[in-house]
Amino acid sequence: MADSDSAFADLLEANRRFAEDFDLGGFDGVARAGVALVTCMDSRIDPLRMLGLTHGDAKIFRNPGGRVTEPALEALVLGVHLLGVQRILVVPHTRCAMASASLEDVRRRVGESAGQDASWQTFGVIADQDAALADDVQKVRAHPLIPDTIDVGGFLYDVDTGLLERRV
Ligand SMILES: [Zn+2]
Repeated sequence: MADSDSAFADLLEANRRFAEDFDLGGFDGVARAGVALVTCMDSRIDPLRMLGLTHGDAKIFRNPGGRVTEPALEALVLGVHLLGVQRILVVPHTRCAMASASLEDVRRRVGESAGQDASWQTFGVIADQDAALADDVQKVRAHPLIPDTIDVGGFLYDVDTGLLERRV
């Protein structure tokens, strides 16, 4: 293991500055804008800012590719029933690494980085991003615990322009 104290020092220092004028305490966990978002872990995506939202407004679930996985559905069901979610956006993005390589390719590259076999590791690579988005939105709409009164949309985020385009 690396030395964890020094590895996190800059972040903890920044956190102490953050806490000095912290004025976000005391909120409950309800999504104040009624929004839940499933999107990719990609660092080019700033989920709140791209929707004009701020702290406390939205439930955000991220994973590689922005896929509607079982854990994502769990989060959405909780969001809808316990946390005020009324609108759900599924947001993959352009130039996503998970949509531009084969499973074999990702396993090979991870294996090379790890210096060992990675062929057993699951990676949710996406062969057809539009088809995957349509499937994912349908999974949300068809979920027995997500009622028809909830608006569900699929959008592609362009990491070069910052624009969202509705696809589903
Ligand atoms: Zn991505």
